[in-house]
Amino acid sequence: MSGWQAIRRVSLSLLMGGALFASGPADMRFPADHRQLKTTLSFEDMTALLKSAEKPGLITVSEEGRSAGGRPIFLVRLNRGGAKARCRVFFYAQQHGNEVSGKDALLYMVRSIAEHPERLPEDVDLYLMPMVNPDGAVANQRRNDAKADLNRDHLLQSQPEIQAFYRVARRVLPHLAADCHEFTRDGEDYVRIGEDHVRRAWERWPIITLDACNHPLIPASLKIEGLRVVETAAPVLAKAGHPYARYTVGGPAPEEEIRPSTPEVDDGRNGLGSHGAVSFIIEAGVRRSAKDPQADLGIRVDAYLTLFQHLLGTPESRARIFELSEKARREPLPPFIATNTFWGNVDGKVGLVKMSDPASGQVLEIPTANLMLDLVVKSSVPTPKAYVIEARAAKIFRPLLEHHGLVFRELAAAERLKAERCRLVRWEAPYDELYQRYENRTIVARDAAVEREFPAGTLVVALDQPLARRAIQVLEPCLLYGLYSYAEFRALALPDGALPVQRLP
Ligand SMILES: [Zn+2]
Repeated sequence: MSGWQAIRRVSLSLLMGGALFASGPADMRFPADHRQLKTTLSFEDMTALLKSAEKPGLITVSEEGRSAGGRPIFLVRLNRGGAKARCRVFFYAQQHGNEVSGKDALLYMVRSIAEHPERLPEDVDLYLMPMVNPDGAVANQRRNDAKADLNRDHLLQSQPEIQAFYRVARRVLPHLAADCHEFTRDGEDYVRIGEDHVRRAWERWPIITLDACNHPLIPASLKIEGLRVVETAAPVLAKAGHPYARYTVGGPAPEEEIRPSTPEVDDGRNGLGSHGAVSFIIEAGVRRSAKDPQADLGIRVDAYLTLFQHLLGTPESRARIFELSEKARREPLPPFIATNTFWGNVDGKVGLVKMSDPASGQVLEIPTANLMLDLVVKSSVPTPKAYVIEARAAKIFRPLLEHHGLVFRELAAAERLKAERCRLVRWEAPYDELYQRYENRTIVARDAAVEREFPAGTLVVALDQPLARRAIQVLEPCLLYGLYSYAEFRALALPDGALPVQRLP
């Protein structure tokens, strides 16, 4: 669908759609009891709902940008405390268009607060972006109309949706953030003999999972607070009757590796953590192979709402998160930057993984030593004072720096600077079976610092700026999974491997 068609459809549903929000339980698209929800709210439903939800002094809705396919990206702000609303919270959903329940839960949250403003604590300034990827939602697919995976675009920021997302993130500067997804909860074969003879299959146990930001450059205080919230969610979800676990990825226990998801910065959770928020990812479990995968949508929405309530916490927990976040934003940079990390299990601890066993119908606790929850740092480099981007690459780097909101200066005349060049030794495309690592590693060597002349047009990015951590994540040439994992930036290496960004020690 073209952008114009999309806009026309929105206008049409705005004319007819006021009834959706005001309607009673008869409207089965948006039943009063969220647990009865069986069909996800469409882009048109959401648009109509948000337009009728605006309430002066409580709820404002803004359009923050347009998707690749030309559809609006909405932000809802809920605030009844005015200046008392110190704790800024940002929940966002549906970066992956076919992962729907987080968006539905956020829309129920809007309705709940619209009907009962007292449910919004006065100290909370709440920002919701329920549908980051309207193109994917309309097409019921993971990617947007430009075929991009938005939750892998937070480093490159090549997509208009993610550019809009960070304009909001830098304006709001949330203290607490959560990214809402869904994972596939279908059974996984444990041992397969021959082509189709399955000896035993495990089912993915939880219906909802949560994990905190985990990039090594994010201040430890934010990650520790995040893990505390992940742990304390367990009794809350148990009381509500929802199977819950920390969010991990990997294969079935006990044979296969299970670990937290990637500590890289190309997703929302680590992106906002790097901006100083106590930042989370939530994944609700869908049985994609079920006859009707949305038959239990209302249950997933209920689990989401329970978790949102837990994340919002108490006045005391919000005051703590506010202080931690404000302090993290003023924290000096660490003296070293971890450039090569992987998940491991220090000392081979035996952990328990819950899985349901279709053969017996029981939830089993499977012992395994393949639970890799320790982030091991394999190499580090000293933190530089600045990065220098050679004039030959300024054209491709300028929009990248601007999308990230990074401060830089352009040399008006040649300058002599003492800088370290870095050379791309090799690029490793495939997944590493032995070390169980992701593909696209860049192996980079760092040369000694040498004074040389940089011509006019060179860009200098100093690290004494508010988003210095983000600048490192974007520019540090020695990162195992940095910018040169992407072909268009790898193409900037000279024949001897020299990369266009140099380090100023
Ligand atoms: Zn997802």
